[in-house]
Amino acid sequence: MMAVFMEATQRAGVTDRVVSYHSSLGVLEWPAVVFDGVRYPGVSELAALQSSAFGVPADQHVEVTRTLPGPDGTRMPHSLLTEIAAYGRFPRMGSPYCRKAAKESVVSAAWTPMVTRMKRELGRPVRILKVMGLRSDEGPDRKKRPALRTVQSNSARVVDEWLPVKEWSTAAVKEWHATARVPYCWTYDSVPGAGDWAGTSRCSCSLCVYASRRDTLLSSGRRPRLADLYAEVEQARGDSFRADWRLTDLIRHAKICGAPDPGIICPDDGPEFAELQAQVRAALKLEARKLPDLARDGGRALCSGCAAQH
Ligand code: SF4
Repeated sequence: MMAVFMEATQRAGVTDRVVSYHSSLGVLEWPAVVFDGVRYPGVSELAALQSSAFGVPADQHVEVTRTLPGPDGTRMPHSLLTEIAAYGRFPRMGSPYCRKAAKESVVSAAWTPMVTRMKRELGRPVRILKVMGLRSDEGPDRKKRPALRTVQSNSARVVDEWLPVKEWSTAAVKEWHATARVPYCWTYDSVPGAGDWAGTSRCSCSLCVYASRRDTLLSSGRRPRLADLYAEVEQARGDSFRADWRLTDLIRHAKICGAPDPGIICPDDGPEFAELQAQVRAALKLEARKLPDLARDGGRALCSGCAAQH
């Protein structure tokens, strides 16, 4: 998306107006890893590398994240998993609140100082072109989304949304990457650097509630401690990671029936992970804001192997 969009800004002579945003999911994103002595960047770092590779100056790339007031009055990162734990329900197809809460609202809020300043200078609502890399191939909801539409209009700002690579197929994206000047995230490969696209088929939260079962099995194998923390939220709240199965059962299923070779295992043993764990467990001690939306079939018999042994 950055490549296609930046070409368009060059033709229009407005490259200097571009600001790129990465709404970081913190510890939930794929982290940087070292494999066979080579370091592979994590998602936030890649977003910054991609921006700069296509001509956005470093000071025009902004990383934002959701925060909440900390004990000493300063703001501290507020993880999506903590929000899920506090809310009591995982996001679902019909209510993908994670996308809004952890991504779109955070970026939109980051525009406010710029909007306030520019509205004063211009004497009219500020026009913002919000450009995203969503593609039709990524799911039915994305297929339905228009490539261009106005998503917000008030006295301060008019926001138009543009999806310049909406009709790019997944095959076209992979082909483009063969000669791209920036790497794609290591998690797409069977092992970092393999170049075989045999890893996870998506890359944002390592464990995404909209991911396929294979992706979730692979991600759980790559980040077992993080998967266990999601499962802890499931067990405490009684809601399921997916409407049709529980992550708790999937982890059990992987132990009995096997799972794709993770290729690499992230230790998740740093202070950020410990902080996430503490935040999530503190949220679980409070009453949930919503009643759970239980798995439809209990998620127990993921395959005949599991069913036979239980
Ligand atoms: S990656 Fe999945 S779980 Fe994470 S914010 Fe996006 S849609 Fe929600």
